[in-house]
Amino acid sequence: MHKYLLNKKHLMLPNIEKRRCASCGACVSACPAGVFELTLDNPTIVKPSACTGCKVCALNCPHGAIHFKRKTE
Ligand code: SF4
Ligand code: SF4
Repeated sequence: MHKYLLNKKHLMLPNIEKRRCASCGACVSACPAGVFELTLDNPTIVKPSACTGCKVCALNCPHGAIHFKRKTE
């Protein structure tokens, strides 16, 4: 039962809208789970499985470029 609840909690993943992103790196610094890294000055999702769905990244993005999508797996 615990496993099921844990999986339900992780159903959402961040998605960066490239058109809006200014590559400021705020989401990379703000994420407590290390989900993002700056790659060639662009934020990249490198550890999607570590995302807890806390949405701190989106709250810290000054350009509203982070949205959440449902995991397909
Ligand atoms: S929702 Fe939380 S854990 Fe997931 S990427 Fe954003 S800040 Fe990191
Ligand atoms: S905080 Fe927003 S604008 Fe800054 S790098 Fe992340 S997605 Fe791009």
